[in-house]
Amino acid sequence: MLSYIAIGSNQKHPIQQAKKAIEALKGLPNTQLLKCSSLYCSRPMGPQNQPDYINAVVELDTQLSALHLLDELQKIEQNQGRERKALRWGPRTLDLDIILYADHSINTSRLTIPHYGMKTREFVLYPLFEIAPEIKLPDTTLLSQLITLCDKKELTKISDADHTYNTD
Ligand code: ATP
Ligand code: MG
Ligand code: MG
Repeated sequence: MLSYIAIGSNQKHPIQQAKKAIEALKGLPNTQLLKCSSLYCSRPMGPQNQPDYINAVVELDTQLSALHLLDELQKIEQNQGRERKALRWGPRTLDLDIILYADHSINTSRLTIPHYGMKTREFVLYPLFEIAPEIKLPDTTLLSQLITLCDKKELTKISDADHTYNTD
């Protein structure tokens, strides 16, 4: 199954957090990391009194079920010091969201796929477009169409696409 994961961080050296997360995603069981977007910088959603975010999107080819993949992503978040607090969209060391899982539509208590916010989040759509410009959502909406409707806001690319992401 091809799946797309959005990475976000704005605490404790966000660029390093994002690169570390990419390395961890490369090590997921029964999964290959096929593509990785550039790193981007975005203004926070929600509370504005927090640092800017570093974002990226990766393409995985995985044999894990969507729920098993979520479990693995939450382990990586925990390993990188994610604390879940009451404040919605508050600062975090690492957020890993499943954006798409093949052409599946999932609506359970733990999982909504496609991710409910993907259509309006510039920090998801633009990195995704960089690595998968032809992609369609399960409802057949074209990503290229969504991009034309989503303002780039203050999103900026902070590094060229680098599929190896050497963390040394
Ligand atoms: P948002 O979902 O608006 O981006 P967030 O990423 O900060 O907010 P989290 O605290 O990371 O939210 O996750 C809250 C819950 O969202 C998770 O425990 C998980 O069960 C659920 N969830 C539902 N759909 C998804 C998805 N597609 N990817 C990741 N988590 C999801
Ligand atoms: Mg999120
Ligand atoms: Mg999340």
